[in-house]
Amino acid sequence: LSDRLGGVFDRLTKQGALSEDDVTAAMREVRVALLEADVSLPVAREFVKKVTQKATGAAVTKSITPGQQVVKIVHDELIKVLQGEGEPDVLRIDNPPAPILMVGLQGSGKTTTTAKLAKRLKDREKKRVLMASLDTNRPAAMEQLAILGQQVGVDTLPIVKGETAVQIAKRAKQQATLGGYDVYMLDTAGRLHIDEVLMDEVQAVRDVANPRETLLVVDGLTGQDAVNVATEFDGKVGISGVVLTRMDGDGRGGAALSMRAVTGKPIRFVGLGEKMDAIETFDAQRIAGRILGMGDIVALVEKAQEVLEVEQAERMMKRFQKGLFNMNDLKNQLEQMQKMGGMQSIMGMMPGMNKMAKQAKAAGLDDKAIGHQVALINSMTKKERANPDLLQASRKKRIAAGAGLDVAELNRLLKMQKQMADTMKKLGKMGKGAMLKQAMR
Ligand code: GDP
Ligand code: MG
Repeated sequence: LSDRLGGVFDRLTKQGALSEDDVTAAMREVRVALLEADVSLPVAREFVKKVTQKATGAAVTKSITPGQQVVKIVHDELIKVLQGEGEPDVLRIDNPPAPILMVGLQGSGKTTTTAKLAKRLKDREKKRVLMASLDTNRPAAMEQLAILGQQVGVDTLPIVKGETAVQIAKRAKQQATLGGYDVYMLDTAGRLHIDEVLMDEVQAVRDVANPRETLLVVDGLTGQDAVNVATEFDGKVGISGVVLTRMDGDGRGGAALSMRAVTGKPIRFVGLGEKMDAIETFDAQRIAGRILGMGDIVALVEKAQEVLEVEQAERMMKRFQKGLFNMNDLKNQLEQMQKMGGMQSIMGMMPGMNKMAKQAKAAGLDDKAIGHQVALINSMTKKERANPDLLQASRKKRIAAGAGLDVAELNRLLKMQKQMADTMKKLGKMGKGAMLKQAMR
């Protein structure tokens, strides 16, 4: 994708902010990328619309292209959608025995995921887990769960021939209660396609089990289909979360976005293989990178933002080397301090500023004081900032009044600037080497 985007982005204008044309051009490509990643069409369309609105007018970091900036915005938004807000990242398994209902189409990975999760709950959270297969259509499926149970050291409900899914669910609850289990997991039967019979059965099971969690297991390799499945199951049964399987395959993860956007339900886990520990909690950042296939660009944009700050610091260094330090420089410094949350850090990074930082601290230069000083500088004229020595008593009074502060505070600020300017002059004469030496102190 990044190659294809490159062409479009080269043609984008390099202005301070993203224009609508910039964004529209880039978003056309993003839309294609989403569809290639198997994001369903309506979800891709909606996402692009939202991000276009968000990105238009956003500031462009100087050392990157507008296109890269758009990608960063897309990436950030993708993570936001995938992650959701304020969702617990653990399963609710309070109030034992807590029922967990596993639903989904046949072959989506329900049985495998049931065993994987049971193992995880046992190993990591020290829970006593009971698993039960409700797949009355296929005796082999019941056997499969029993075998996996043995493999991971988790109990399974003994198989009784001729029972209905509801009867098994009731027995599982009984056994879990009597046996002192923390959790019991119900592995329901699937169908190749959604049909009435399946939904009726799952609903009936839900009604007797009253599950704490209902996890929809979906094949991560399916795109548009996954959305239909999720819509159906959520509408008919109600789901509390999603597990995406086969994310170890070469699918591009678009199903994750579709799922999230359509159901609004959190993606809890991803399946990463057939082995019993091939399951992980969902990582929005990783999936977002995978969907866009452009981790490099995102990293580059983050870097560029850092570079921007370094460039500014370098510009200031050049002025300092010439022994220049007026009110504009001071204001710049003060604002940096505000931004970086603490003056110690920034002053400590500047040649000759270590001592000054200590003095400033001793003088009680805290965040509030910095705010006052910036206000004072703001109420000076351009000329006065460039050359504060010009200030006369009457102007001082008015500047202080303009900032709503005392003249005494303005005088302290002027003294500080003067001291710094003097230091700069001295250091400037000594040359760069001396500046660095001074900085080491
Ligand atoms: P069910 O019909 O929904 O119960 O599906 P199963 O649990 O029986 O899984 C069907 C097949 O998919 C099995 O061969 C599993 O080993 C395989 N499978 C399940 N989850 C994953 C996964 O995350 N990655 C891979 N590669 N295979 C998986
Ligand atoms: Mg199964």
